[in-house]
Amino acid sequence: MTVNLLEFEKHEFAQFCAEIGEKPFRARQLMHWIHQSGTDDFDVMSDISRPLRERLKATAEIRAPRVVRDTTAADGTRKWLLEVGAGNAVDAVFIPERYRGTLCISSQAGCALACTFCSTGRQGFNRNLTVAEIIGQLWWANRCLGRGITAARPISNVVMMGMGEPLANFDNVVAAMQLMLDDDAYGLSRRRVTLSTSGLVPALDRLRDTCPVALAVSLHAPTDALRDELVPINRKYPLKELLAACVRYIERAPRDFVTFEYVMLDGVNDTVAHARQLAKLVRAVPCKINLIPFNPFPDSGYRRSSADAIARFRDVLAQSELTVTVRKTRGDDIDAACGQLTGQVQDKTRRREQRVAAAIS
Ligand code: SAH
Ligand code: SF4
Repeated sequence: MTVNLLEFEKHEFAQFCAEIGEKPFRARQLMHWIHQSGTDDFDVMSDISRPLRERLKATAEIRAPRVVRDTTAADGTRKWLLEVGAGNAVDAVFIPERYRGTLCISSQAGCALACTFCSTGRQGFNRNLTVAEIIGQLWWANRCLGRGITAARPISNVVMMGMGEPLANFDNVVAAMQLMLDDDAYGLSRRRVTLSTSGLVPALDRLRDTCPVALAVSLHAPTDALRDELVPINRKYPLKELLAACVRYIERAPRDFVTFEYVMLDGVNDTVAHARQLAKLVRAVPCKINLIPFNPFPDSGYRRSSADAIARFRDVLAQSELTVTVRKTRGDDIDAACGQLTGQVQDKTRRREQRVAAAIS
């Protein structure tokens, strides 16, 4: 049987080399070739003997999801659609900026959590991505952007903010993030890898104990009543529990704050009263607030808050001594902005009501 080396965690490389009777340093060589040089061809591995290369060719492969579409937006944002089998495909998005390049990665085909304003959530859920499919997005983007990550580093940051809820695919996401952090692979610092979650409290505590990267939490509402509606998982893990988990997380986090994401929905959560409630709610949590102008998609039923409403909301928070930023919308002409990623999902959950019931059961 052929094994996919992109699926391997560090200890599995070591195990694999031991099993085929190779010295432990071969594991590091393989990791360097695969994750730093970005190759999928054993023949280019010049410091590995020919007999071993032949053996590898017979037993192993380096296989990332196949790219089925590659689109570049007017602002340089680039989106790849990657096929993950059985009619499913996920998006990865690269956002170049002057001093950094951020890759936004998907963790699931679809999402079962059914947030009302999110097009991935509207599409339903198919399955968790494998480690190879998650790290394969970074592997591919690196390769495609023309340089290994150790050279000029076109990708300086990774955000788990694409399709899916990363904490609902905990083991595979953590394994992939460990590779992002590993000096024998991508060598990113924990500050430069951000996980965004809608708030799965027990998994958040596990993340704190196993792989505390920078954290973003999708808040979107200042009260349980409104959040229950917008982010249905709130019915299971209400705001008080979520905020307490954030405080616990900060003790171990690489940054001394949590980023709260707040999507600005016209007439829904964007009034001055909401801003005051929000300021009061997060008082005890060291945080930064990132306001995200809603990115529309067909039949969403929502509108983006006006620029005035966003500015007013921001000012109320700033007057309460909170650090607040407004996210720039990038790549919306190719549907690459937050919440516009739809990939292709063969929904297994069918009706939204069933999904919500399953998510909070
Ligand atoms: N499931 C995770 C990560 C993926 S979503 C989470 O919910 O945090 C990444 C961010 O985009 C989240 O903050 C999400 O709430 C936000 N988002 C979803 N739909 C959006 C939309 N239509 N417009 C703007 N932001 C959206
Ligand atoms: Fe899932 Fe995040 Fe979209 Fe909610 S916002 S449906 S958790 S991807």
